[in-house]
Amino acid sequence: MDKYQIAIIGGGPAGYTAAEAAGKAGMSVVLFEKNSLGGVCLNEGCIPTKTLLYSAKTYDGARHAAKYAVSAENVGFDLPKIIARKQKVVRKLVLGVKGKLTAHGVKIVTGAAEVVDKNHVRCGEEVYECDNLLLCTGSETFIPPIVGVDTVPYWTHRDALDNKELPQSLTIIGGGVIGMEFASFFNSLGVQVTVVEMMDEILGGMDKELSALLRAEYAKRGVKFMLSTKVVSLAMAEDGSGQVQVNYENAEGAGSVVAERLLMSVGRRPVTKGFGLENLELQKTERGSIVVDEHMQTSLAGVYVCGDLTGFSLLAHTAVREAEVAVNHIAGREDAMSYRAIPGVVYTNPEIAGVGETEESLQRKGIACRVVKLPMAYSGRFVAENEGVNGVCKLLIADDDTILGAHVLGNPASEIITLAGMAIELKLTVAEWKKIVFPHPTVGEIFREAL
Ligand SMILES: Cc1cc2nc3c(=O)[nH]c(=O)nc-3n(C[C@H](O)[C@H](O)[C@H](O)COP(=O)(O)OP(=O)(O)OC[C@H]3O[C@@H](n4cnc5c(N)ncnc54)[C@H](O)[C@@H]3O)c2cc1C
Repeated sequence: MDKYQIAIIGGGPAGYTAAEAAGKAGMSVVLFEKNSLGGVCLNEGCIPTKTLLYSAKTYDGARHAAKYAVSAENVGFDLPKIIARKQKVVRKLVLGVKGKLTAHGVKIVTGAAEVVDKNHVRCGEEVYECDNLLLCTGSETFIPPIVGVDTVPYWTHRDALDNKELPQSLTIIGGGVIGMEFASFFNSLGVQVTVVEMMDEILGGMDKELSALLRAEYAKRGVKFMLSTKVVSLAMAEDGSGQVQVNYENAEGAGSVVAERLLMSVGRRPVTKGFGLENLELQKTERGSIVVDEHMQTSLAGVYVCGDLTGFSLLAHTAVREAEVAVNHIAGREDAMSYRAIPGVVYTNPEIAGVGETEESLQRKGIACRVVKLPMAYSGRFVAENEGVNGVCKLLIADDDTILGAHVLGNPASEIITLAGMAIELKLTVAEWKKIVFPHPTVGEIFREAL
């Protein structure tokens, strides 16, 4: 029987980061992956969506080039080629992950692994012995048990990412991050998109005011939003056209939306079944999540859980950091997980990003804050690059002058939000943050202006 210091189940951002870090630290590591290295993020999540969205953004930019006194004629796109490029990008990055793991001596085992006990993992006929076990099995799409769901064809994000023929119309159930990124992509390519959302605003968890502004922008571009609307059943359209009918109820009564395609995007659930998790009898929270301490260690010493399986944030960058913390703990290095400044980004065009608390979360906790809000036009670089567009930057400042939260609507929110994340994580005060020299002209200077 092969013996390793660390056995890792799952080769997504959590698993491959842990494997690489442990390999680098000189530990013997075995990593089990049943599908493709890179997990959801590289193969069917973060990277493929952003690759498609970049094509859509380039197309939008070219169509509106006249705003910058540039002429671009006969602007068009080729969806099969966009999808092919996405596959090329994914292949390149997956190979990169494989190369790094191999370089650090990680033993990669392809197949579905099963936990026998905390020191043994089975994969196929083989049993592997380990001192430490890292569970990084990630999450999967949640399909809600709506009446009629088994009687209609629907897409999940996987189908939407590989689809080579544009539908004329698309209904998206769920206006969360994934739903909105697909709404943005298909809207750019000319598809009539309707977003049906049960909550009273899209992008739950993000700043509500900025989310509403983004929604208004997409409504102007033709996306139809139905908020506070509950989908009650699904059926094929009665006219025999092969379209899908989404029946809903909201304050105005009952109704239906009919579209050529339906994208199901109501959320994701941790993968907790099918790999022998029950053999460990780990302590769970009331909501069924596995209890972990600040080192990502479970109630069983030597067993760690990282990434989407924790059910905390369902984001790749959280998974990466959790994995580093777990490996550092195993290696005896001081480290602890902090969730104070986990950025959230929606890669629509414009992007929206936030880090730390929102006004809504502070209100729920009864914490007072000062809100500073500035139009993005206070950044010279933003004005130079965003003709006829505006956005908002919002900072939430505590009584002791530390930063509690930061939210940005405007490009490139995804890139500049890290500046605020650092200030929040390091508990910088307004005066301390202001002493940092920002390059000029950059969009990030908006934070200095707000301070
Ligand atoms: C459409 C979409 C877009 C997204 N965009 C972003 C984004 O822009 N930014 C962001 O931060 N996050 C994004 N996410 C979320 C991100 O993909 C996840 O947070 C991240 O992949 C979680 O990493 P993980 O390692 O926990 O799990 P996963 O990436 O889910 O990896 C788990 C791996 O474990 C393997 N596995 C499971 N069980 C076993 C077993 N028994 N044996 C062997 N292998 C097993 C699976 O095959 C999988 O490869 C997106 C997700 C989706 C679906």
